[in-house]
Amino acid sequence: MKEVDNLIRKKESRKDRNLLKGAIDLHVHIDPDIQTPHRSQNGFECAFSMKEEGMRAVIFKPLGLPSTGMAYMVNLSIDDFLVFGAITLNRCVGGLNPIAVKHALVQGNGAKAVWFPTSDSVHHAKFFSKGSYPFVEGYSKGLVKDRKEVFKKAYDLIRIKPEDAVVVFKNGNLVDKAKEIIDIVIEADVILGLGHMSVGEAFQFTEIANLHGAKKIVIPHPNWKVMDYSLKEMKKLAEMGAFLEFCSSGCEPQQYVSHGITPLDPNDIAVYIKNIGVEHCIMSTDSGMFSVPIPAESMRTFIALLLDAGIKEDEIDIMVRKNPAKLLNIN
Ligand SMILES: [Zn+2]
Repeated sequence: MKEVDNLIRKKESRKDRNLLKGAIDLHVHIDPDIQTPHRSQNGFECAFSMKEEGMRAVIFKPLGLPSTGMAYMVNLSIDDFLVFGAITLNRCVGGLNPIAVKHALVQGNGAKAVWFPTSDSVHHAKFFSKGSYPFVEGYSKGLVKDRKEVFKKAYDLIRIKPEDAVVVFKNGNLVDKAKEIIDIVIEADVILGLGHMSVGEAFQFTEIANLHGAKKIVIPHPNWKVMDYSLKEMKKLAEMGAFLEFCSSGCEPQQYVSHGITPLDPNDIAVYIKNIGVEHCIMSTDSGMFSVPIPAESMRTFIALLLDAGIKEDEIDIMVRKNPAKLLNIN
């Protein structure tokens, strides 16, 4: 298959594949993370498949323990491709734990992104406690017994009640530990990633982070159903200096199965990007689940979909190469 693929590539110049060259994915989930049997690739496989497509760099985004160790090991084994680690302030690292952040920033090549709570955020837990959370009950239905058990173990850890979630806002105000971490992140000059926050929380967080001097605020998939920010709200957040990260996996049919929600329409994403302005947008994949294309392919299809939806090549170039490179200080 590989040879056939190469033959086809030689014959035609494809915009999607050309734009994939030099692309950077700031949001990929790899194995090992928490023991999820549904990761499509481990860190090595992910990095090498991206390099093969001519991509430039990736951030491994963890749900559990920091990915800085894995990123360091993969970096040792690969040339002409950069792998970056990150820390996500879910319960597993003690939630808002400044010491864990400081460690991640110096482990291996150092974390290049610090994400506030994602699957352990109060907002996330509230969203999924309202309706069904089909991860275990539904998603594991088709899995063979041993996979099912591993899967359940993993998701028992991240399927939590709102009262057990990591508190970032107390009585509507950003807690002091969050501010302390914001300062550490700014000092380290790495990405300050919002987790799965409500839109009200995102505004407050961004405003305070700005007062502290943040320059690298990234809001992950603000249009994903769990976040559901309106275009007006996204525009305002961009005007406040935040980067809005649109992710391909939200458009995948996997959303029906793993999260019980309707996939996003890429045409809508194109409308958001045009209105917000590409200078404030990033295209990532949030891929790595086995039921979506592997991250490199996921990035290619995302590029192709947005080209079809009317986004221009030079605009894609800004969102997949220039903006992420700026955030990683690799210009
Ligand atoms: Zn993700």
